[in-house]
Amino acid sequence: MDWFATRLLAWFDVSGRKDLPWQQDITPYRVWVSEIMLQQTQVATVIGYYQRFMERFPDVASLARADLDEVLHHWTGLGYYARARNLHKAAQRIVSEYNAEFPLALDALEDLPGIGRSTAGAISAIAHRRRAAILDGNVKRVLCRFHAVSGYPGTTSVARTLWEKADEHTPEARVADYTQAIMDLGATVCTRRNPNCDACPVAERCKAYAAGTAEDYPERKPSKAKPERHARFFVATLASGAVLLEQQPLDGLWGGLWNPPQRALETEPETFIEEMGWTPDDVERIHIAPAFRHTFTHFHLHIEPVYVHLAREPRLVADTAEQRWLVPDEWQGGNERLGLSKPAVRLLASLADDFTLQTS
Ligand code: SF4
Repeated sequence: MDWFATRLLAWFDVSGRKDLPWQQDITPYRVWVSEIMLQQTQVATVIGYYQRFMERFPDVASLARADLDEVLHHWTGLGYYARARNLHKAAQRIVSEYNAEFPLALDALEDLPGIGRSTAGAISAIAHRRRAAILDGNVKRVLCRFHAVSGYPGTTSVARTLWEKADEHTPEARVADYTQAIMDLGATVCTRRNPNCDACPVAERCKAYAAGTAEDYPERKPSKAKPERHARFFVATLASGAVLLEQQPLDGLWGGLWNPPQRALETEPETFIEEMGWTPDDVERIHIAPAFRHTFTHFHLHIEPVYVHLAREPRLVADTAEQRWLVPDEWQGGNERLGLSKPAVRLLASLADDFTLQTS
């Protein structure tokens, strides 16, 4: 038996829970129902539901005979009702196809509605006492930490690694106790938050514990990649140093902040100049700088700055409610004086660089 299993079993003998209702009168049916109930629900909540369920449906035949409505009624409050529907369907198949006896083969168990590889493993190991690995949420957490397995366990390659580790540790002897033990360790010691490593029987060789990174495992589901959007920001300046800024709609993304005019990425400088009512003669130079990224909650915005320096005060420089020429005195000091968006702060600060670039 490997070191991990030996330590775990010794711990289970002394500290493991042995009085949970599904640990009494063990049958495949009782193990199965508990495993399904425990999939998304805490032990403390499950106990009462489990006892009432067992009173009403003491064996697979009584569950198969029951109306689905009544099964669902006994599930009310546990949520994830597909679990109850699958229990009912699987019970009917066990009765009709297997004469109300749970099949022994793992693949036959896994073929039943709602029974995945881990539940099949638990039924096999705990009830049939046949060697089979399990990998429920608790076991994943323990193994991810003990072996410092990085990556999200929902991905195929990480899941494969974890199944391999789970299988390596699973002993031939006392497989039922071992299975209870590793689930128990995850539920009571190697908890999601604040694991009690000082009380853990496998701490001595736990990689995450050694590195002080237990809570970093298992890695969370990576958030979906944010969409990438693109825009040009036209930073128009006058010889006086004034910059043209636009106030953004209150109900929009920037909520009333001031920005250099934002236009679609395809907007050519000539188009913008024309839109502003300026002429090419008004413009002293144009410089398109490399884009930078600004991140919103739901997307990334790649901002390509286009600096447009006007040689002379164009005719149309009058301020409007949403558009103003602001001299450095007004925008320096940033948000204390004027609500500037982050990219606006960055672009205004870059004006000196842009100037140096153009004159060096
Ligand atoms: Fe979990 Fe800590 Fe034990 Fe490692 S030492 S398995 S992190 S409780």
